[in-house]
Amino acid sequence: MLVIKREVCGYCGACVSVCPEGALELVDAYLTVDPENCIECGICSKICPLGALEMKNAE
Ligand code: SF4
Ligand code: SF4
Repeated sequence: MLVIKREVCGYCGACVSVCPEGALELVDAYLTVDPENCIECGICSKICPLGALEMKNAE
């Protein structure tokens, strides 16, 4: 699953624009991921300039 480190996120919105599923949403200073839509492709975690997104295995 995708873990958002909110204390690290700088709310730049870069991850929102690269997500192919539109699963990320940035409202003001709060980034959310919709687990129903996230396919765990990891693109957002690679693009985040601050390393605020981390892919973690579900187990
Ligand atoms: S892992 Fe992929 S599908 Fe999930 S939020 Fe990130 S970019 Fe979107
Ligand atoms: S790319 Fe990183 S810093 Fe920018 S909004 Fe997404 S999680 Fe936050």
